[in-house]
Amino acid sequence: MGKVEKVQTEECVEFTPVTIKQDLCKGCGLCVEVCPRHLIAIDKTRINKKGYHPARYDDPENACLCCANCALVCPDVAIEIVCEIKDKE
Ligand code: SF4
Ligand code: SF4
Repeated sequence: MGKVEKVQTEECVEFTPVTIKQDLCKGCGLCVEVCPRHLIAIDKTRINKKGYHPARYDDPENACLCCANCALVCPDVAIEIVCEIKDKE
């Protein structure tokens, strides 16, 4: 299971959400399958220290839901998610 420090519950406004530790990834593609926003892909242009094409997170429009699906499904604990939750006014 991946590490989840904070998961969005209401409104996620400013965050550095997903970090994929490239050299822990074995390119299994599970995180690609579970992302509802299709923000993760296997990067066929790169090879990591283990010899795999690693997953890459690409989210130029901040579309990540902080759902943590990707981190929870990763068997190699390669994904970390950190979300900041906005206080309700
Ligand atoms: S936290 Fe959810 S929406 Fe964000 S990249 Fe992971 S699976 Fe996709
Ligand atoms: S689930 Fe984990 S090991 Fe598999 S591709 Fe995604 S980051 Fe890599």
